[in-house]
Amino acid sequence: MPLPMLETAEVPREPVSTCAGCGVCCREQPLPPFLDDIDLIPIELQKEVIELQRREAELWQLARPCTWFNEETKQCIHHEHRPNICREYEVGAELCLEIREKYRIG
Ligand code: SF4
Repeated sequence: MPLPMLETAEVPREPVSTCAGCGVCCREQPLPPFLDDIDLIPIELQKEVIELQRREAELWQLARPCTWFNEETKQCIHHEHRPNICREYEVGAELCLEIREKYRIG
């Protein structure tokens, strides 16, 4: 007996377990999204982020990826100092899959 055809939207997705080659979540904000965790990074980076925060409204208008995102490597240039919200972002979770779909990444 033939199996029923699935509509495109019903095709099961491969599980996502790595950020390699992706970086779409870094396209959802124009600057590193620090909250009260900015004190945890080196002072030079704090100064840079505070300056970026001062220009936040302007940066949102430019609709670019986060200023710390490297387009070539698709990675954060200050990965070891990234904000807590970036550390807690769950690879392969619902939000991750939604954003990957928005940018048409597998
Ligand atoms: S991981 Fe780095 S590049 Fe990506 S949003 Fe966070 S701070 Fe920006």
